[in-house]
Amino acid sequence: MKVLAINKSYIPIRICSKFATIGKMYTGAVESFFIKDGSYRPLNWADWLELSKQDVWPEGTDFINSVTQRVALPKVIRYLNYDKVPRVSLKLTRKGIYERDNHTCYICGENYGEGKLSVDHVKPLSKGGQSTWENLVTCCKKCNGLKGDKTLEELKWKPKFLPYRPARSNIQKLKASVTTYYPEWKLFGF
Ligand SMILES: [Zn+2]
Repeated sequence: MKVLAINKSYIPIRICSKFATIGKMYTGAVESFFIKDGSYRPLNWADWLELSKQDVWPEGTDFINSVTQRVALPKVIRYLNYDKVPRVSLKLTRKGIYERDNHTCYICGENYGEGKLSVDHVKPLSKGGQSTWENLVTCCKKCNGLKGDKTLEELKWKPKFLPYRPARSNIQKLKASVTTYYPEWKLFGF
């Protein structure tokens, strides 16, 4: 049972285990959402404990039994004082570049398996281009062959997108890390 954590600005930032979740609720670092019939209500720890005693929970709700009472496990929690979005720890490797670009060629816009892809220097090495996030991009082997050692300007090609340094947590990556998806998460843009 996993819990989606969103930041103060309602941006999904991580997936938490149930015990980590209860700990954050208890210390007041997060509020928890009571979600039912497609709507939600944020609750603090005291109200959450109170509501946990009642018979209002949708089917499939998990409970943790403490010494004194049962505590419902939320599907979504929200940090009250955390507004950042963790950086993606993508490595500047061939795979990292493909991943950032969703395996899509920046010239023709087609989606390919790794076998048909290559990494292109937008500004060619021979013209002073560097091997950085901002200059390396996914390019299919066919387009890369046609581009050769030329610049986009020389070829008068308009790329479908340009490379960039991945600075924000991308939700795709978070999604790839979970094996179960709860429909309640959809309410929070996940
Ligand atoms: Zn291409």
